[in-house]
Amino acid sequence: MNKMLSKVSTTAMSSFSSSSSRVRAGFSVWPNVRQLCFRKGVLYGFMRLFSTPLKTLRGGASRSLRVSRFCSVVNMSSSLQIELVPCLSDNYAYLLHDINTGTVGVVDPSEALPVIDALSKKNRNLTYILNTHHHHDHTGGNAELKARYGAKVIGSGTDKERIPGIDIHLNDGDKWMFAGHEVHVMDTPGHTRGHISFYFPGSAAIFTGDTLFSLSCGKLFEGSPEEMLSSLRKITSLPDNTDIYCGHEYTLNNTKFALTVEPENKDLQSYAAHVAYLRSKSLPTIPTTLKMEKACNPFLRTSSEQIRKSLNIAAAADDAEALGIIRQAKDKF
Ligand SMILES: [Zn+2]
Repeated sequence: MNKMLSKVSTTAMSSFSSSSSRVRAGFSVWPNVRQLCFRKGVLYGFMRLFSTPLKTLRGGASRSLRVSRFCSVVNMSSSLQIELVPCLSDNYAYLLHDINTGTVGVVDPSEALPVIDALSKKNRNLTYILNTHHHHDHTGGNAELKARYGAKVIGSGTDKERIPGIDIHLNDGDKWMFAGHEVHVMDTPGHTRGHISFYFPGSAAIFTGDTLFSLSCGKLFEGSPEEMLSSLRKITSLPDNTDIYCGHEYTLNNTKFALTVEPENKDLQSYAAHVAYLRSKSLPTIPTTLKMEKACNPFLRTSSEQIRKSLNIAAAADDAEALGIIRQAKDKF
């Protein structure tokens, strides 16, 4: 970390990164919301000094995610940089940049143009496209990016027929190397049968696609509550400080359902206020952390007495049954 920061210490980006680390460290000890907002406010003011004005990427009428240039680089805890790229109306693609080799990958490019814009700004090439699952809002940019950069497409062997342009098939338990960074492939079905998540243990980061969101999980299009529960348990077995990079900025909306089913959860109340603050400033709520999600996400809290009471889930119901009922209630919310 120190070595890496010294390499780029003259840039505004590294200043943001070190500020970000402090905010995130503070977050992990559960400061109250006022402290949190004050810190974020200072950070935000600082970023405004160095960043170009917030702008809507590509200027699409439906584009609601606005993220400033410097606030989009959110993780520099190792030599792997992770940059959020807002796509469509509420998707995130993520650029992975290994600063030692210059290797770049992108996770779930729902469209090509915002990714090309982000790469062009830094004059970077693209070597890999990583897909968590086959849905068009996660793979829509594959063909154009592959044609333009010659990037290799990586996805689930289970779903090789449905991942556009797939070159490298990976399966549960596989370890793949991204420019010297070990990547653990985890089958996480439930949303789709071939859904995988990419875990980078060296960066304490996981890309969960549409399996785990902040305060929610994906809809069960091709899987059962049992499968989703099993997938979520794989993710929750990782260290609490793991950063969760999911496929969508749904968090503000998700706070409403979560507060309805568990209104007295103090951690959730604080987090919901923080999320509202971030979104009021057009800042991303991602990454979240596993610690936060365990404390607040109703789909990871199937044994919560208050949630069970709110949704009339029988005390004898197992966690999978409870998850199914929570999912149905959220679908109708
Ligand atoms: Zn999906």
